Amino acid sequence: MSETVTKTDLLSMNVAELEEFCRSIGEPKFRAGQIFKWMHAGVGFDGMSNISKALREKLNETAVLLYPEIAEKYVSAQDGTVKYLWELSDGQNIESVFMRYHHGNTICISTQAGCRMGCAFCASTLGGKVRDLTPSEMLGQVIAAQRDMGERISGIVLMGIGEPLDNYDSVMKFLRLVGDEAGLNIGYRHISLSTCGLVDGIDRLAEEGMPVTLSISLHAPTDALRSEIMPINKKWNIAELLSASVRYFEKTGRRISFEYTLIAGKNDTAEGAAQLVQTMKKYVGRKMPIHINLIPVNPIKERDFASSDMGNVRRFAAILEKNGMTATVRRTLGPDINASCGQLRNRENQIQKHILT
Ligand code: SAH
Repeated sequence: MSETVTKTDLLSMNVAELEEFCRSIGEPKFRAGQIFKWMHAGVGFDGMSNISKALREKLNETAVLLYPEIAEKYVSAQDGTVKYLWELSDGQNIESVFMRYHHGNTICISTQAGCRMGCAFCASTLGGKVRDLTPSEMLGQVIAAQRDMGERISGIVLMGIGEPLDNYDSVMKFLRLVGDEAGLNIGYRHISLSTCGLVDGIDRLAEEGMPVTLSISLHAPTDALRSEIMPINKKWNIAELLSASVRYFEKTGRRISFEYTLIAGKNDTAEGAAQLVQTMKKYVGRKMPIHINLIPVNPIKERDFASSDMGNVRRFAAILEKNGMTATVRRTLGPDINASCGQLRNRENQIQKHILT
């Protein structure tokens, strides 16, 4: 096993936990604040210049900072989007995407190595879930990308590999750590969490006092079709999911964005749009504003789903708009670098499997 297993994962700790750690190695409490600031700025033990050499050595012996290593990096020539394939301390690969928006830089991060949700169109789930990420491994993606780019990241979306609400406690801890003023200081309003629809997790999240923006991956207008492409729908159907969405809005005051991936001939027809209008009217009605984000599916080679053409996308959007909903079509960033998550990890896993067999 790697040595990181026995060493303390400091980057997953909040200041109170670090204080306890300092006490356990015979150091004064105030060291905790110093270490916290340095490690959140991406500085390793050896660079922590206001602590003694002896303590730095002690930290090297007893603790570890789990920043991921860059395995591959792709920069889009079209829009400056940067995709990272990271390697974690146990050799697992995950992905993040750095995106430039007019309001600042945003990073899309992974929350699990793999995913067990089984959505039919998604590359991240093809090899199943290997393990959850620790808070430090989520934080490490933001810190390492910021360090590599030399630019501040002011927004985070949890839309990379994995289902954030399936790794609930670590994701909550991560969200509290990134919000810390002594660290990255990224406010909840600049964070979006995307879920395929774990209703129990949505209800728990509403009670956390952490008003992050919630994105719901809806992707189908009827239970029959949603269950076909998203197995989670067999556990919590559309009625239950939309009711939980309304409860989240009522509790937090945060608007919800519904993600709808358009797959040619499957869920992008005029009839599909009309069904979606009916479903939203029935279960959401006027209880909250409805915003639907349309995403032409990014075809993955393991499945034969094709992307809708722009005519169908526009027709779909027009039907929603005519019925009082807001519809946006997601701007595609980094199309030249396979920026949709899951594709690189999957390719890497295939290569390794090939080498092993
Ligand atoms: N598990 C979470 C977050 C990760 S996926 C969730 O399901 O929401 C982030 C978004 O990308 C989701 O809306 C997901 O459905 C969508 N997505 C996955 N594969 C896609 C593909 N091939 N093309 C377009 N969108 C995709």
